[in-house]
This record gives sequence, C-alpha cells and structure tokens, in this order.
Amino acid sequence: MDLVLVHLFPDLLNLYGDRGNLVTLRERARRRGIHVVVKEVRLEDDLPADGDLYVLGGGEDRQQALVARALQQHAGTLRAAVAGGAVVLAVCGGYQLLGHGYRAAEGQQLPGLGLLDVTTEHPGHRARRLVGNVVARCTLPGVGSLVGFENHGGRTRLGPGVQPLARVRVGFGNNGHDGTEGAWCGTVFGTYLHGPVLPKNPRLADHLLTLALRRRHGDVRLQPLDDRWEEAAHLAAAARAGLRLRR
Ligand code: GLN
Repeated sequence: MDLVLVHLFPDLLNLYGDRGNLVTLRERARRRGIHVVVKEVRLEDDLPADGDLYVLGGGEDRQQALVARALQQHAGTLRAAVAGGAVVLAVCGGYQLLGHGYRAAEGQQLPGLGLLDVTTEHPGHRARRLVGNVVARCTLPGVGSLVGFENHGGRTRLGPGVQPLARVRVGFGNNGHDGTEGAWCGTVFGTYLHGPVLPKNPRLADHLLTLALRRRHGDVRLQPLDDRWEEAAHLAAAARAGLRLRR
C-alpha cells in the first residue's frame, strides 16, 4: 500500500511545532509497512491533485493573509480531492481558512475555502485570547479524549453542515461559549489543538490514516502499534490541564 501526504505551507503554518502532525502520520504509516510519499507545498507551488491526506498547521494573522490568497488558487484542486475521498486536517489558523472566511484582528476579511461550514471572527486585540491546555471528548467513534494546547483570538461558529470534533471538558474550544472544539464533515477535519495534536492523540492520527488509505485501498484496518509512550503523553497532558483520565 502507498499513501501520499501533502503538507501545505510547512514554512508559514508551523505554530507550536504543528509539523509534528505530518511526522506522526508518516511514521505511523511507515511502521505498518505502508510506503509514504510526502509532498511539501510552498506559496509559489502548484497543489498536487493526488494527495490522500492534506495537512495544514496554524499561523498568525500575517501568515494567514499570505496563505489565504494562495489557498484560493488551489480551491478547485482541493475541493476535487475531497470529493474524491481525500482527507484534510487543519489546525487553528489553517482550520479558520477551511471555513467560509476569517475576519482578522484588524478587520481584514480573509476568504476561506468553504470546505467546512464554519465562520471565524477575531474580536480585536483588546479581547481576551483563548489560551491554555485543553481536554475534550471526541465525537468520532473510538477516539475518546483529545488533549492539546490552544492559543487563538479568533472565535469560530459552527454551521449546520458540520459536527464538532469534540466537546470541551477543560479549555475554550471554538469560541469559549458553546462547548465545542473543532469541526468535521466527511473527510475534512479542523481543530484548535496544537501540541502538536497528533503525537499525543494517536487514535485521532489512526482515524485520519484509515480514512486516507480507504480512498484507494478498500476496507483498510490498521494493525495496532505499541502506543505506551503516546498514551503516557496523552495522560500527562490531561493531568497538566487538571484532569486525571483513564484510557
Ligand atoms: N491568528 C489566528 C487567531 O489568533 C490563528 C492563531 C493560531 O493559528 N494559533 O485566531
């Protein structure tokens, strides 16, 4: 089996080591004997149409403005890939740009891709940033709790076309009000969780890998890995957020 991972703007969207998400997906696939090809896309590049899994990290408003323009050029390719079953994972600033749009802190309106029915507005620099450790209950079957770290000014509202990725137990999540964290629809996933999110949430990583592999390889079931370290990291992150979890 082979898997094509596409990393969008690794140089611009890499807050809090979000690049670790790509590394986690790559290594968890390789340990199962899957042949992985990684394609990095920078501002001036074309977007490969053959990706099985597209990954975007977080970035501040300045980087987002650069990326938003490039993403509009790739919108058709990315939409076609998703229609063909490709998976997308986007974090924080990247997540905001998967939605209908993002109004940045200084009022600039950045267009989104409309791949997720969410809208984000930053209430301005005087408003409190939503910062801290997060523990949330994932809505995806078999994933259980999610842990991570959030730091965003933008408040994201979910529309009827998405489900929350998780329900917040500790932290702010999408907007600090409705108890939701992240969003998903079909094979497109957005989250505010940095950390990076996937190394210490291996079940989420495997959920994404499974969906991505099924696109071309049928009813794939991943063999389990020894996740003692990952699970220990998960529990340690939850403990830091004040929750003693059992897995
Ligand atoms: N600039 C965005 C915000 O503050 C995203 C920040 C991020 O990616 N951490 O909402």
